[in-house]
Amino acid sequence: MLMARKMEGGKNMRQKVEERVEILLSKACEVVKARPSDALKYVKTARKLCMRHRIPVGRARKRMFCKKCLMPFAPGYNMKVRQDSKNKRVLYVCECGGIRSFSYMKKKGYPVHEKPAD
Ligand SMILES: [Zn+2]
Repeated sequence: MLMARKMEGGKNMRQKVEERVEILLSKACEVVKARPSDALKYVKTARKLCMRHRIPVGRARKRMFCKKCLMPFAPGYNMKVRQDSKNKRVLYVCECGGIRSFSYMKKKGYPVHEKPAD
């Protein structure tokens, strides 16, 4: 449906949503150890916001939580970071069994947890 593409408030709205997503995700990372269920809720809300406003979650943000179980990553707590030096990739191994891998070569992607340039 092309009609749904109509902008609500235009750029301003998008910026506001981006801000909220950012806050939600950082909050999720903060509380993941104390209140995992809340952290999960924050990630879900952030993802829904992105979907509703057609905002890409973004490469950097995608690294903040598991794609499979949506739990925010807390290294040493619910996930392990492994290095695959042969393929020049960093592996995020979640406790749910999900594995995400990111190249650490400059060409592709941002360094881990760095925000994309605006
Ligand atoms: Zn997981």
